[in-house]
Amino acid sequence: MKTIGLIGGMSWESSAEYYRMINEQVKQHLGGLHSAECLMYSVDFEEIERFQSQGKWQEAGERLADVARSLQKGGAELIVLCTNTMHKVISSIEEAVSVPVLHIADATAKEIQVNHLHTVGLLGTKYTMEQEFYKERIAESGIQVLIPEAEERDIINEVIFDELCLGEINDSSKVKYRQAIQNLIDRGAEGIILGCTEIGLLIHEEDAEVPLFDTAKIHVEAAVNQALDN
Ligand code: GLU
Repeated sequence: MKTIGLIGGMSWESSAEYYRMINEQVKQHLGGLHSAECLMYSVDFEEIERFQSQGKWQEAGERLADVARSLQKGGAELIVLCTNTMHKVISSIEEAVSVPVLHIADATAKEIQVNHLHTVGLLGTKYTMEQEFYKERIAESGIQVLIPEAEERDIINEVIFDELCLGEINDSSKVKYRQAIQNLIDRGAEGIILGCTEIGLLIHEEDAEVPLFDTAKIHVEAAVNQALDN
């Protein structure tokens, strides 16, 4: 089994889920008392969020590149960045290490293709929904990506940073997310990407009439398959 290096802390609420799911998956594959060989370097999200909101992406990339180097030095043979948003700076991380970095959008696009869907809605931070780095990567697989209207994007982003990243799960926010999902379906979405690793804490399969692609879950499955050479 390869050692998985997790870049976590963005936020730790979802990193805890990554840790739990990675171990569950390994146990499912190998049985018995097996658990994942993994390292997690969990950063201080306050610092990273400040870089994001100030547009200091280069600094953020350098910070996460240092983290990736530390993980490789510690024995990581595969790097997993436990946030969609920070994939904006994935190239800084890839350049810093010689081990593979598993892109969350590639794993997600593959899963969408397995389900034979052509048009999907995307929920995530405003950076993920509005900037090109993420949508482009999904579109490279021939998948069309729809994002919510501006007012809904603000609400979705606020819920991520003001609630989910702080461990607050509110029914009133669930209602707003369900409405945003329904509006995307009405515009032609055949599935919805939960393109923020915390959204799976709020929204579940039963909240939509179309398939949901929980990026944290998909990312973990891809990482475990790669670690086990499946
Ligand atoms: N975990 C989130 C994501 O998947 C949001 C936090 C962040 O901005 O990194 O995008």
